[in-house]
Amino acid sequence: MRILILSDIHGNLVALETVLQVAGRFDRVWCLGDVVGYGPEPNACIEKLQAFDLVCVAGNHDWAVLDKLDLEEFNPDARRAAVWTRDQLTPANREWLRALPERVPPQAERFTLVHGSPRYPIWEYVLTPAVARINFDYFDTPLCLTGHTHVPVIFRHLPREHRAVAEPLPEGAPISLNAERLIINPGSVGQPRDGDPRAAYAMLDTDAQTFTHYRVGYAVAATQAKMEQAALPPPLITRLSYGW
Ligand SMILES: [Zn+2]
Repeated sequence: MRILILSDIHGNLVALETVLQVAGRFDRVWCLGDVVGYGPEPNACIEKLQAFDLVCVAGNHDWAVLDKLDLEEFNPDARRAAVWTRDQLTPANREWLRALPERVPPQAERFTLVHGSPRYPIWEYVLTPAVARINFDYFDTPLCLTGHTHVPVIFRHLPREHRAVAEPLPEGAPISLNAERLIINPGSVGQPRDGDPRAAYAMLDTDAQTFTHYRVGYAVAATQAKMEQAALPPPLITRLSYGW
């Protein structure tokens, strides 16, 4: 089975549609949260995902638009975007977001899916090997997929040395999934933050047991024009050009 891995779409329909066009054949979609927030087309992104055999977990932005967490936790631009998004959402899509779980039972027996971290699924950023090492104690499966940081990375667990190491996720080169325990972040579809403005995603092949990370350029200016029309905060519009 081929599973398309998406994270942090953030209402960026142009980026999402581009990924769906280039991803090739896939049987299922796993989405690691933050479907909405920041971007100009939250409803359309939700409805696009609903067309697929989908497993999706909740992210902090998905909760923010439901008032499930305090908007004071957000910086002013993110807060403005969350309030705007909340006003746009249809009742049905709001209910769809409300039903998203914080973590899902192991998928394909080997994977735990969360937005932030296995320890704190909504909020914690797994950015360093030290944080990754602690989090290897908070899931039982060999593999865990996370989003939230918008930075593609792979953390390997070295249990005998009581540590974890971080490695860049190679583009277009399949990683073999063997007995090793890994935390993998596929990067962000709709708002990359690793200095590369191209949309990020991954493909999991459960027969070959490989995980492959991809980047694809999309019409950033088209998303930016929609954000301007919606009067979303200018820094959120500009950052898409830089992937930051
Ligand atoms: Zn996010």
